[in-house]
Amino acid sequence: MKKILEIYKTAKTPVYSFEFFPPKTPEGEVKLFEAVEELSKVDPGYITVTYGAGGSTRDKTIRITSELAKKFSLPAAAHFTCVGGNKDEIRVILKQIRESGIENLMALRGDPPKGEEAFKKVEGGFSHASELISFIKAEGFDFCMGAACYPEKHPEAASLESDVDNLKRKVDSGASYLVSQLFFKNSNFESFLNLIRKKGINVPVIPGIMPITSFAQIERFKAMAACEFPEKLVSDLEEVKDQPQEFYKRSTNFSVSQCRELVKMGAPGIHLYTLNQSPASLDIVRELKKLKE
Ligand SMILES: Cc1cc2nc3c(=O)[nH]c(=O)nc-3n(C[C@H](O)[C@H](O)[C@H](O)COP(=O)(O)OP(=O)(O)OC[C@H]3O[C@@H](n4cnc5c(N)ncnc54)[C@H](O)[C@@H]3O)c2cc1C
Repeated sequence: MKKILEIYKTAKTPVYSFEFFPPKTPEGEVKLFEAVEELSKVDPGYITVTYGAGGSTRDKTIRITSELAKKFSLPAAAHFTCVGGNKDEIRVILKQIRESGIENLMALRGDPPKGEEAFKKVEGGFSHASELISFIKAEGFDFCMGAACYPEKHPEAASLESDVDNLKRKVDSGASYLVSQLFFKNSNFESFLNLIRKKGINVPVIPGIMPITSFAQIERFKAMAACEFPEKLVSDLEEVKDQPQEFYKRSTNFSVSQCRELVKMGAPGIHLYTLNQSPASLDIVRELKKLKE
């Protein structure tokens, strides 16, 4: 399995990657495999599989990442968080991930468990992703590690400046590339990039893009990621919120233009949050790659 940093280093064209989550039901799993089969037609650089809140999908994340990688011959990364685990427990899971053939890890702190306001480290565990990344390195695991970044600031951070200082710690600890939280204003991403480059963060930074498939999602994304939306996008989508075909057309056109501009700005790739659905991500990448159906 190829290491993700190597993919970015050797790519001659932008790398398109897709993110999935482990489904709760066997039917969901069948649909996931169908979605990946569809998406593999546009030759993605790699895929990733998330780690459920509080480590709830641990075994599924490992199994599904490994199965998808083998079945579709794709490089893959498993996401991993340090929520609820001490060093000994984390070491065991990391071994399990590595033994299943996975070489790439998206190393995260994770969110506080449901109902809890603040993240609490467990005894013998970690408070921040940078500590997890340092531990993984110190233990001698040879994962290629990615980490998360937040162009519009992590919700808990006091300021974007302090968040970027913490981001620098993650990179200095051993994160080889960064994938961003979803965002819709490229100007915010550009300012963020300028800031992190000034602070000496020089690893590849991959914009994370979420296709909008319903008007209700806009409020959800605002609550989840505290991201800004261009007013014109919101009004254009509101106008057709009850016309599914027109909504889909306007929304995917927006994503295509957003990605095109990001690639022009020098983005080494685009990471699409698929929510396990293939159509929008497939159409966006087909259009960007100018592929025929
Ligand atoms: C691309 C991407 C993928 C994701 N995948 C998953 C997933 O699979 N599963 C999941 O549960 N969640 C996932 N998340 C969500 C993520 O777990 C949350 O956003 C979480 O709140 C922060 O994780 P982190 O790794 O960025 O944390 P950190 O980098 O530890 O940062 C968290 C907060 O702590 C602050 N901080 C960091 N270091 C220090 C320090 N030394 N001193 C003081 N403050 C510090 C930061 O500024 C920030 O406010 C993902 C997010 C992104 C962007």
